[in-house]
Amino acid sequence: MGYSDFVSLVESGRVIRVTIQGNNISGLTAQGPFHTFAPKDPQLITLLKGKGVKISAKPEEGASWLRMFLSWVPMLLLVGVWIFFMRRMQGGGGNPLSFGKNRASLLSDSREKVTFEDVAGIDEARDELQEIVDFLRDPGKFTRLGGRIPKGVLLVGAPGTGKTLLARAIAGVADVPFFSISGSDFVEMFVGVGASRVRNLFKEGKKNAPCIIFVDEIDAVGRRRGAGLGGGHDEKEQTLNQLLVEMDGFASNEGVILISATNRPDVLDPALLRPGRFDRQVVVSVPDVMGRVGILKVHVKKTPLSNDVDIKTLARGTSGFTGADIENMVNEAALMAARRGKNRLEMIDFEDAKDKVMMGPERKSMIISEEEKRVMAYHEAGHALVARLLPGTDPIHKVTIIPRGRSLGLTQQLPINEKHTYPKDDLENNISILMGGRAAEEIVLNTQTTGVASDIEKASGLARKMVCEYGMSEELGPVAFGKKEAQIFLGSEFTRHRDFSEMMAQRIDEEVRNIIIGAFEKATRLIEDNLGILHKMANTLLEKETLNSGEIDELMVREKSGLGAILFT
Ligand code: ADP
Ligand code: MG
Ligand code: ZN
Repeated sequence: MGYSDFVSLVESGRVIRVTIQGNNISGLTAQGPFHTFAPKDPQLITLLKGKGVKISAKPEEGASWLRMFLSWVPMLLLVGVWIFFMRRMQGGGGNPLSFGKNRASLLSDSREKVTFEDVAGIDEARDELQEIVDFLRDPGKFTRLGGRIPKGVLLVGAPGTGKTLLARAIAGVADVPFFSISGSDFVEMFVGVGASRVRNLFKEGKKNAPCIIFVDEIDAVGRRRGAGLGGGHDEKEQTLNQLLVEMDGFASNEGVILISATNRPDVLDPALLRPGRFDRQVVVSVPDVMGRVGILKVHVKKTPLSNDVDIKTLARGTSGFTGADIENMVNEAALMAARRGKNRLEMIDFEDAKDKVMMGPERKSMIISEEEKRVMAYHEAGHALVARLLPGTDPIHKVTIIPRGRSLGLTQQLPINEKHTYPKDDLENNISILMGGRAAEEIVLNTQTTGVASDIEKASGLARKMVCEYGMSEELGPVAFGKKEAQIFLGSEFTRHRDFSEMMAQRIDEEVRNIIIGAFEKATRLIEDNLGILHKMANTLLEKETLNSGEIDELMVREKSGLGAILFT
């Protein structure tokens, strides 16, 4: 029944009684029961009374519960969110109110023990840390002549060079409590929490002295103050300040030594680095050949090797690999051998693993037309030929036209001895080798392709460095052009600050260009004089896809006797 019908029904005096429950009105007339919904009508009761209708009311059921519940929901939600964040902050579980507690873990035998035997190739860093352990064991011996025991040691090195590993090894041999924490563990969204964690960490340390506190990745808290986009970062600065205060706060004879590791010493706050805090900086360098031999030996211990595996050659071919890269390579080799159904790892597994780690997996599915393959073969053969013909260059290890990662083909040289400085001739020869690819394309196929982009980029970079950094330009002399500036805000990328005139800029560009053109001409001459070998090499490459050093040697020799053409200046 509509409300107005109901009202007229009441007015006509036919309604006997009604029951009101919220908006629901049910009632009885002489004709029978009825039901309606009422709007909020303040006059209704007066009307009903006036007509002598019997009124009864009932509490709103259900609806009231709902209303009560709804009024509580925001509250409950807030509490829920709060608990959730507290738990998150604690890394799950634990008392939500114990934020500031330090989260350092005491390294004990529960984890697999690392010993110095597991660390190879970074002997200097190891010896340095060994000395720290000796300090802790017998401080008197060192302080007897008035010396002061260092408070802190900073391990600096590229990622994967074994800093964390070294610290864990120290924990294994030190016989003193070893607290380990990562810099990011201090960082929290609430201001003041980091600082209180630092405080507690050192309190704990002093209680357990003599002991070592290891803060991994300290750059997370030790970033230069006042830097960083978006203004001051109060929480981080407070944490760092607390760290500085704590480091000053204990005397060095208290037997707490702080070891930290970072791969970004350039972004650390200078206050952190001054003597009296981190007295020593130990550089953990990328391993050299002998270092890599050692690291390889550590990691192949667990894998059965076939007799043809030559650790020395592998080490020579992995120039620039860090310990982590080497571990990764050995692991890939083991997986590869397993996939191939072998019981032992062979050299070929290591070779493939090395290429995979260096350049990404083979892209077998990549469709390359015959024509493109031919260009690639000549391009790589060009590199290889120039490299073979130029005196004093590193021997070629392998040439391949199997695409991998982002590169289409590859010519790999294998340095015999690792060098730390390079004579000008070597650099020029390297640029010639880089130019060999394009030169071969032009001579044989009479085209220029886009595949040379990275060659050209590398060559140009090298030539520019020769002029601007190494002072190898006769024209411009030994003068440095452009200052390098580290941009701590934007990562470690160096930008060149121009400190020379427009005229100089032109001459620099000219010199760079001269070097490259000269190298290109040299490469062209070499290839033209040995065109027979180039054809042969490219064809063999097309056929086999990969040539190793022995196969290249053979090609060179055979052609030599045939043509007698290997003459170069
Ligand atoms: P980071 O310097 O980045 O802390 P890690 O210490 O974490 O590097 O090294 C990662 C892994 O690489 C180690 O677990 C170890 O297996 C391997 N590794 C790195 N350096 C060495 C080394 N010098 N000797 C043996 N293994 C190493
Ligand atoms: Mg590390
Ligand atoms: Zn190339």
